[in-house]
Amino acid sequence: MIPYGRQDISQADIDAVIEVLKSDFLTQGPKVPAFEEAVASYCGARHAIAVNSATSALHLACLALGLGPGDRLWTTPVTFVASANCALYCGASVDFVDIDPRTYNLSPAALEAKLEMAEKEGALPKVVVAVHLCGQPCDMKAISKLADKYAFRVIEDASHAIGGRYDGEPIGSGRYSDITIFSFHPVKIITSAEGGMAVTNDDGFAEKMQLLRSHGITRDPKQMTHESDGPWYYQQVELGFNYRMTELQAALGLSQMARLDDFVACRHELAGRYDELLSTLPVITPWQHPDSYSGLHLYVIRVAGGPARHRRVFELLREQGIGVNLHYIPVHTQPYYQAMGFTAGDFPHAMEYYEEAISLPMFPGLSSQDQDFVVATLAKAMEAS
Ligand SMILES: *Cc1c(COP(=O)(O)O)cnc(C)c1O
Repeated sequence: MIPYGRQDISQADIDAVIEVLKSDFLTQGPKVPAFEEAVASYCGARHAIAVNSATSALHLACLALGLGPGDRLWTTPVTFVASANCALYCGASVDFVDIDPRTYNLSPAALEAKLEMAEKEGALPKVVVAVHLCGQPCDMKAISKLADKYAFRVIEDASHAIGGRYDGEPIGSGRYSDITIFSFHPVKIITSAEGGMAVTNDDGFAEKMQLLRSHGITRDPKQMTHESDGPWYYQQVELGFNYRMTELQAALGLSQMARLDDFVACRHELAGRYDELLSTLPVITPWQHPDSYSGLHLYVIRVAGGPARHRRVFELLREQGIGVNLHYIPVHTQPYYQAMGFTAGDFPHAMEYYEEAISLPMFPGLSSQDQDFVVATLAKAMEAS
């Protein structure tokens, strides 16, 4: 099976992990801060907080932004469920904003229209999660303008987008948002096996996320309510979690950072090759915003002709050993969300996308032969469907 995505592990990555195994610290040692420093400096952000997944990073980001019961978080329906679930962890509610039919990202126009309505109803969101689908940055300038006007906070879910650029700056620079989160799951652009990171320029948000990732416990006298009882002393000042990243994960992530730019360049080469090979087929290839540089986590094509044909093409590809996938089943159609009252028709562009989208294999290490085979098989599948 040719997967849709997979990790690329070098001997240097393996050596970095083995070195940690032989060292004094398997957790809470020097590798986590080193990985954080590498990501923060790559992004040009003041702080980076490593955690055990992007899901945990989203949770901590929401808490740092003060999201709680009675508050609302809005995001796109075309994302992984974690982008929405983070609100529910905080006792807040979730709503969605339909996508832009060209970029598949949250539509700033739909956001503006929904904000106007919400203002009248006194139901504005506290946080909007902008997901850079496939690695292509959202229209952050437009979203940030609306954030100023309607006083909401912005989290960039950049799980697909590390190594990408928006408006000349690295994703994660934080120019147009409060907190950006990354995922290091093996299918993503770089990996730490499991792992995630939150980056921010705000000292207060960073301090809060650092505290909450480790039980809400501090050893910093400045954060304590009274003077230390002695050298053993720590205080729990918040209800936190154990969301810590291990040293093994951080060593792997840090080692992978050295190849981040190569990984993304390689993804661009593959995408360019797909664009060319697919130009004669009746499929919609990904539109790339000319002012941004996508992380290109995913290469999503659209196959028209209705849901039955889409499904048939998908099945034929899988039967031929091509691990195509669909990113994503619109979150509002999940049973858990339907139980909250969402119906499929609420976000029509998201549903149109769902009825046509197919993620083709896209990862460094995908060979030209495999890519040719994917396209040839797709051509046959489309002819047969
Ligand atoms: C992968 C992903 C997540 C969750 O990442 P984990 O590190 O697996 O928790 C969240 N949002 C998006 C858009 C993702 O693709």
